[in-house]
Amino acid sequence: MTKKDLVQFEKILQGKYEECKKNVDYYKKIVRETTTKEASGDHSAYSFHMADQGTDAQEREKAFMFYAREEKYLKQLDDAFERIKLGTFGICRVCGKDIGRERLEAVPTTTICYDCKIKES
Ligand SMILES: [Zn+2]
Repeated sequence: MTKKDLVQFEKILQGKYEECKKNVDYYKKIVRETTTKEASGDHSAYSFHMADQGTDAQEREKAFMFYAREEKYLKQLDDAFERIKLGTFGICRVCGKDIGRERLEAVPTTTICYDCKIKES
């Protein structure tokens, strides 16, 4: 990875980070809203009859799943920034070779090259 490559990938990661952060905040809000609603026992403001309760629970579960996924991705992005700082970005954690531009462009948070990935799975 040249310095120029790293700057470019940092920009890509930055964009993904901001997008991901927005999603995390969004899903967190949904999870919090549906949880508060249920805990307080006040459904009147949101739903008109008891049948909606099931939907709320489902919505919350879905939102929580997305939230967990986005937050995990956020952590991966954080790690990628750290690797850029340390100068290990783009290097396979298994064999120590370059992961390659093409694969990094597709999956910028990856820490493993294609060959090792195949061997691992
Ligand atoms: Zn490798």
